[in-house]
Amino acid sequence: MQNPLIDTHAHLNFSPFIENPEPYLERAYNNGIRAVIVPGVDIASSEKAVRLADRFPMVYAAAGLHPEDSPRAPDDYLKQLEAFYQHDKCVAVGEIGVDFYRDYAPPDVQERFFYEQAELAKSLELPMIIHNRQADNAILSVLDRVGYYTGQCHCFTGKAPFAQTCIDKGLLISFTGIVTFSNEIAATVSALPLQSLMIETDSPFMAPVPWRGKTNEPSFVVKVAETYAQLFNVTLEDVARISTGNALNLFHKLKTDG
Ligand SMILES: [Zn+2]
Ligand SMILES: [Zn+2]
Repeated sequence: MQNPLIDTHAHLNFSPFIENPEPYLERAYNNGIRAVIVPGVDIASSEKAVRLADRFPMVYAAAGLHPEDSPRAPDDYLKQLEAFYQHDKCVAVGEIGVDFYRDYAPPDVQERFFYEQAELAKSLELPMIIHNRQADNAILSVLDRVGYYTGQCHCFTGKAPFAQTCIDKGLLISFTGIVTFSNEIAATVSALPLQSLMIETDSPFMAPVPWRGKTNEPSFVVKVAETYAQLFNVTLEDVARISTGNALNLFHKLKTDG
């Protein structure tokens, strides 16, 4: 393939990758992947993401506080996060957002942390990696308050009209391996413009067919790209060119020639 693929969301800072990332990165490289973005979910995992980016040319980091971890945030968490963005390869604020599916923290607490980090992203002109589970209205109301829409709706599991609203505001959408086994998600993908999509694994979660139930890994992002190619009736090369182009535009600190 001429155009490389980018796994825009893989938790290589989690087990089992963090203990021994090399074989996973090697397999990803051998499958045409030239960049992997590793998002943080709290201060410690953001630090691990940045350290991985230091060690491996194809790894890029993001730093942020996931809604799950917001109740345990230190008072000076914004200051601690800000230090990470000084790094050349820390390309985004994320993952941040709101999750009403798992009820991690009261809505006002989750929304406050999302708001503060979206403000930070805006002030630093960095893209956001947005986590949203059953919180469409909360996500949009925070972004509207901040007036900033440079970001990725990661692991999108909502409905097509909401995705289109996000796209109209300037956000990009990415899907995981769920698209390989959920007809509902595949239908959502088909209803959207490929020009607004990216690909991700969300490793180690959500392994695509034929590896469902196994540990997901960045090399499997090829399956997401192949499914897009089928759904849009284009070549894998087209998907690589468009989705990688989108990722390079959005994550402007990222380079695939490193
Ligand atoms: Zn997420
Ligand atoms: Zn994630």
